[in-house]
Amino acid sequence: MPPVFRFAPSPNGYLHLGHAYSALLNFDLARRRGGRFLLRIEDIDPTRCRPEFEAAIYEDLAWLGIAWETPVRRQSEHFAAYRAALDELSALGLVYPAFESRAEIALLVAQRDAAGGWPRDPDGAPLYPGSAGALSPAARQRLIGEGAPYALRLDMAAACARAGALGWTELGEGPAGEHGEVAAHPLAWGDVILARRETPTSYHLSVVVDDALQGVTDVVRGQDLFHATGVHRLLQHLLGLPQPVYQHHRLIKDASGQKLSKSTAATGLRELRAGGVAAAEVRRLVEPI
Ligand code: GLU
Repeated sequence: MPPVFRFAPSPNGYLHLGHAYSALLNFDLARRRGGRFLLRIEDIDPTRCRPEFEAAIYEDLAWLGIAWETPVRRQSEHFAAYRAALDELSALGLVYPAFESRAEIALLVAQRDAAGGWPRDPDGAPLYPGSAGALSPAARQRLIGEGAPYALRLDMAAACARAGALGWTELGEGPAGEHGEVAAHPLAWGDVILARRETPTSYHLSVVVDDALQGVTDVVRGQDLFHATGVHRLLQHLLGLPQPVYQHHRLIKDASGQKLSKSTAATGLRELRAGGVAAAEVRRLVEPI
């Protein structure tokens, strides 16, 4: 079976040099290894994703000389698949609704910080500080019946206890030089959100479901997602999904050494194109690949 690579941008902004690097790396690896290259549109968040950004993704990638298989998988068209995975995890007793608002969570974190400190996840966000996991089934039903907003969270301790030790094959490099057989540390993320009342999925859930459904064998993506891979491995294990190999790549930085987060005149592919830069020059800018 040929290896399957994918580039999976979210259409919540215009592509920049960091995206170009990731897309070209995936595309080149697929070609070099006689594999397939897929494009996936990760558009589960309707408040941030816009059709003009999606259209721009197609235009910018084509300009770079990248060709992808069609039809393109758009996550917003597959909520049923994510819900089915969520139902499987719920049936294992690993999912619970948490009803605290963002403000309530911030207050709980502040209280815990003041009382001696509260842990942060690998991205620097506080772990979930609430105790909704302890609510009785009747209390949950009552709150849901009252129409209270909620997030569905993974009971991380129970999930990790069920899964045992996990790891993955890292062909690239983590932020601390991790390479080869590396251990997954999903507990470091606390009770992550898997879905919300109004959005029946999350980044973590949809990415593992789609990588499996699309037969992705090689996940090649930025180093900023290295630690999230621990959560992905856990979900793959719990859902009985195959395990891809991972290759986390360096991040393209701006002139001040910061990771690119949005496109600017100096880094946006559209802006560079409008300024007369050729696609071949963008390729050179993001090499060596
Ligand atoms: N959609 C994610 C992003 O744009 C990438 C997901 C992935 O490659 O796993 O950052």
